[in-house]
Amino acid sequence: MPVPEIVHMAHLLGTRIDKTADAMAESGVTAVEAGFPLDPAMGGTMKETAVTADRAFRNAGIEVRVVHPALGLERDLSSADEALRASTVEHYRLMIEVCGLFGARFMIVHAGDRYTPGECAESVKRAADSVGSFVDLAAATGVTLVVENLPSGYVLESGREVFDFVEAFDSPTVRACYDSGHANITDHPAHAIGVMAPVLGHLHLHDNDGTADQHRMPGEGSIDWGAVGDALRTACYGGPALLELALADGHTAASMRSRTLELMGYAAE
Ligand SMILES: [Zn+2]
Repeated sequence: MPVPEIVHMAHLLGTRIDKTADAMAESGVTAVEAGFPLDPAMGGTMKETAVTADRAFRNAGIEVRVVHPALGLERDLSSADEALRASTVEHYRLMIEVCGLFGARFMIVHAGDRYTPGECAESVKRAADSVGSFVDLAAATGVTLVVENLPSGYVLESGREVFDFVEAFDSPTVRACYDSGHANITDHPAHAIGVMAPVLGHLHLHDNDGTADQHRMPGEGSIDWGAVGDALRTACYGGPALLELALADGHTAASMRSRTLELMGYAAE
């Protein structure tokens, strides 16, 4: 039976990736998802910080498996503001280049920011046009784009919407990223996996009480992790799974990883 392969956040132990990579390796981190922008204290452009981080991770024996582009109002692939949408597409193209630098095989896609009520369909269409404009570049770089289910009020807030969005591309380069915390707010965590299963490429695992995106350790919120594990086994999922939270109290990266797999009903590593 395939087992999800747990990766950690690149800034697990602090923000200066170039200074904490060795401590991360000691804590048991073997692979990470790097979220941009990296700490500006590292100096230089986003690409230059990527070069610095790449060197630090390689020296520490840590693989950068996934890249997460920058978020926020100033990055919106679904925006009706054409200049904003174009600059966001430019950022995603740069991030694909950064994936090539790291050798990262996956890149997260947030289809958009908050949609205006009544204009969701237009937002989704613009997001699809945006993603369509860099699918070929991603494929040529060997990067799979994984589209994430987002919290309520954001473009693609449910597993069903992500499935429909991804399926329309009919391309192995465009897959889905299941986020357990977001699903616990807008959807049903285990059910959303079932809906997304045929196109699933990545997981973001973290817990909350169902009211907000709290990024808690699995088991410290209201998600039924046994049911999540059952849904992943039914989907035969064995791809990457980011523990999207900082180092939890009393844990090493290795113990967070084994605790999460145990809660989901997988045998210990
Ligand atoms: Zn996420």
